[in-house]
Amino acid sequence: MADKPAIPGAGSAVAEKLERLGLRREADLVFHLPLRYEDETRLTTIRDALPGVPAQFEVEVISCEVAYRPRRQLVAKVRDDSGMLVLRFLNFYPSQQKALQAGARLRVFGEVRGGFFGSEIIHPRFHAVHESEPLPQGLTPVYPTTAGLGQATLRKLIDRALEHVPLDDTLPEDLRRRLTLPELAASVRTLHHPPPDISLEQLETRGHPAWRRVAFDELLAQQLSLRRAHALRRQRGAPVLAPGGRLCDALLAQLPFRLTGAQQRVWREIAADIEAPHPMQRLLQGDVGSGKTVIAALAMLRAVDNGYQAALMAPTEILAEQHYRKLSQWLQPLGLEVAWLSGSQKKRERSAWLEKVGAGDTALVVGTHALIEEGVEFANLGLAIVDEQHRFGVKQRLALKRKGMGADARRAAPSASSPPVGGSEPTLRAWGANTVPHQLTMSATPIPRTLAMSYYADLDVSVIDELPPGRTPVLTKLVSDTRREEVIARVRDACAAGRQAYWVCPLIEESEALQLKTAQETFEHLTAELPGLRIGLVHGRLKAEEKAAVMAAFVANEVQLLVATTVIEVGVDVPNATLMVIEHAERFGLAQLHQLRGRVGRGSFDSACILLYAQPLGETARARLKIIFENSDGFEISRQDLHLRGPGEFIGARQSGLPMLRYADLEDSALVEQARTAAEELLRGDPVIVRSHLERWLGGRGDLLGA
Ligand code: ADP
Ligand code: MG
Repeated sequence: MADKPAIPGAGSAVAEKLERLGLRREADLVFHLPLRYEDETRLTTIRDALPGVPAQFEVEVISCEVAYRPRRQLVAKVRDDSGMLVLRFLNFYPSQQKALQAGARLRVFGEVRGGFFGSEIIHPRFHAVHESEPLPQGLTPVYPTTAGLGQATLRKLIDRALEHVPLDDTLPEDLRRRLTLPELAASVRTLHHPPPDISLEQLETRGHPAWRRVAFDELLAQQLSLRRAHALRRQRGAPVLAPGGRLCDALLAQLPFRLTGAQQRVWREIAADIEAPHPMQRLLQGDVGSGKTVIAALAMLRAVDNGYQAALMAPTEILAEQHYRKLSQWLQPLGLEVAWLSGSQKKRERSAWLEKVGAGDTALVVGTHALIEEGVEFANLGLAIVDEQHRFGVKQRLALKRKGMGADARRAAPSASSPPVGGSEPTLRAWGANTVPHQLTMSATPIPRTLAMSYYADLDVSVIDELPPGRTPVLTKLVSDTRREEVIARVRDACAAGRQAYWVCPLIEESEALQLKTAQETFEHLTAELPGLRIGLVHGRLKAEEKAAVMAAFVANEVQLLVATTVIEVGVDVPNATLMVIEHAERFGLAQLHQLRGRVGRGSFDSACILLYAQPLGETARARLKIIFENSDGFEISRQDLHLRGPGEFIGARQSGLPMLRYADLEDSALVEQARTAAEELLRGDPVIVRSHLERWLGGRGDLLGA
């Protein structure tokens, strides 16, 4: 189906460029909507042109030549009755040069500016006209394009597509009316060819009902595809992890604390999922320190109680090790051994664990991504938990995804339930044909609600929205780095009072080597400034056991001040640490700052987070610091972050394969909600509609539906 010449009228060179825009079928062209519009319904005389205001002129070419200074460029002189104008092209095609021959009549569109040799337009759009050719009646669409694909070509292809491609409504009439959405065909035509009397402002701000209709359809396609993927995965089998065993209760009885209400609620949600004979697909969200680990432990014990294995995977050694220690501490008293797999461990140790895991002698496995490498075989994995999965690199995530299901499962799976569209989270190796382990993903980066509702629609979400009692609010201070000495004095005081501190070195994204050097220098500088203090340094290049040694020393208060690169961002839990200093805080993202700040305030002592910044601050950096200063709630920070950055980076962190929304704006949560409800309705009762809607929106990108 994908192989037939997809876009009539487009030769292979054009087709290749269209492909770059994601346009593979004629039907895709119809939904390639204008970026903006230009008013070509009027002509301006050269004399009346205002600098910087887009305008249209009708001119005759006087001369045209290729100039070589200061660089190769095409320069055409043109005139109308009122004056002269230079058209300048720094990049040009032979076809353009040909069209600009002396004597040619053109309509030229662009912004005039004063050049050295008089008025000029750089890279104007233009086309040849006959004498007395009528002006267009409506606004001219300007489409997103790519190098070498002109507006005229795009416009011609799109107009042709508009004639051929059926635009009948996929929305049932009653649904459409209920949502007061205009018809699709009319909406699409309006957006490509706005009538003369339309409000340009409504069009350009996308407030026009026609845009709303398109945005809705796009959101609906996203919902249908992700919810359907969810439903398909649910058709697979998974081990029933029933309640009634002794281990969960034993753990709860032995914990030094009681679960918070929120923890109890999410545990009920998870427990209900894994008791079903279908795989759980759940995302557990909870702010830093909200206590996700104990929930993971409970779920793992439920698996063990039912005779299955459970695995917990974390993105960094430090984080994985922290989990390993915590779980061992909790579970050893229950007579359970925890297996440990990491990239840096000795071969002998690794193969010993692998053997036990493969034989089913060890039920609980914790590790880094070493857990999903070649050669790791589980005897009967029933539950796979991935912590902070957004921190896995793109490559690792792809590798995880490929690991997706065990080869057996893949072979035995009916094609309909091939691994899901877009939103799949990593799965560990399955243990039987067409049966997959339950899956839980944990994240401390709160995902704003509309984002969770849209891009994450293939997952069920549980939220721990309450911190354990006894946490002290963290005082946040913004301090210019010219006052570094005061901050150092503050560290001295905190440590003198028996507390501990973190000093986070600047993030240097361009160069890991430079980052390392800075960390080293900071360490030396602080060591000189703070004689008598026990100071440790931890960074990404340390060997795993060196890292572990420094961390252990910090946990034991043998190290009072821990100088660190961002490796401590997640997973460190030292209640006695009360001071967090972050250098060049303006370089960090909001999620990172929030995570780092969450490392303190875990005990009963007053805690502070000092954000050192360097002047001058850029606009975004200033906005970020203001947000982190004013807010302590991770969800609110995240919501404002989404507003600041748009969904791209949140999603980028999730998975590169997800189709981005082009037209829908997630700030319009009402529309997202409506699309979600509509999708549920349609998925329940209208398979034909579902299919044709998905075909229309995603059919051209087969990888989304088939992958
Ligand atoms: P995160 O959600 O960031 O992974 P952790 O699971 O590491 O949080 O929990 C943070 C700390 O809070 C740990 O020391 C943990 O033992 C403790 N904790 C978890 N739940 C509770 C609770 N209900 N009451 C008191 N402390 C708790
Ligand atoms: Mg955690």
